[in-house]
Amino acid sequence: MPLQARQGKVNQWHFAHSSRGASKLTEKECDFSFWVSVLSMAKQIISKGGTLTVPSCTKYLGHDEIFITDEKEVQLPELEIEKGSFDAYYCFGKYSIGLNFTTPEKEYHATYVSNKGVGVLEISLSRALNAFFDKTRRSDFKNILKEIIFQDVDNKKWIYHPKIEYYINRYGERLQDKPPYDLDFVLGGMGHVRLGCYECVHCKLRWRGIQECPDCHNRNSQVVKCR
Ligand SMILES: [Zn+2]
Ligand SMILES: [Zn+2]
Repeated sequence: MPLQARQGKVNQWHFAHSSRGASKLTEKECDFSFWVSVLSMAKQIISKGGTLTVPSCTKYLGHDEIFITDEKEVQLPELEIEKGSFDAYYCFGKYSIGLNFTTPEKEYHATYVSNKGVGVLEISLSRALNAFFDKTRRSDFKNILKEIIFQDVDNKKWIYHPKIEYYINRYGERLQDKPPYDLDFVLGGMGHVRLGCYECVHCKLRWRGIQECPDCHNRNSQVVKCR
């Protein structure tokens, strides 16, 4: 964790607690209020709406990576923040998205989602610490956080996506978050096995792996663009 190393710099930021008197706070409380401040700033930013880049959602059938949804942009309207356990919640007709911000101090605690039409997206704000105190930064805290929330993708993760339901019903326990082994590594020295991205003409499944469809075992899959 870079937190310790940057203690001095963190303490220079009195965004949240200056009004309460910084001198009364211990080092630990000061760090804590940093993330509380980031979180409340994040809620303010998202409440104004914007274009949210959401990540792709993939799962594994054995070593084949199954594409469930692609990375895309979602228009978020202005909103009344916090619904239930979410930091922000949006209704788009047939489906909804609940957003949860996480920081090193606020991890996501997966709760069972009873409504199958609700997508649950985790957005990590952890990059804020290094980004805020980067000597080469060119914009202010608010704009950096905006970028982390709306544009970054690596910090986002679908905890649940409504489209997963179909795959869970069809493949059950076979559907996994991770492959059983690293196929690229295993096949590293084997030039004759080519991994690519394919779409099955029969069952419409899309995946990254070998050409044989992991569902219907059709070998004449169409090559598609990898993302
Ligand atoms: Zn401070
Ligand atoms: Zn197939």
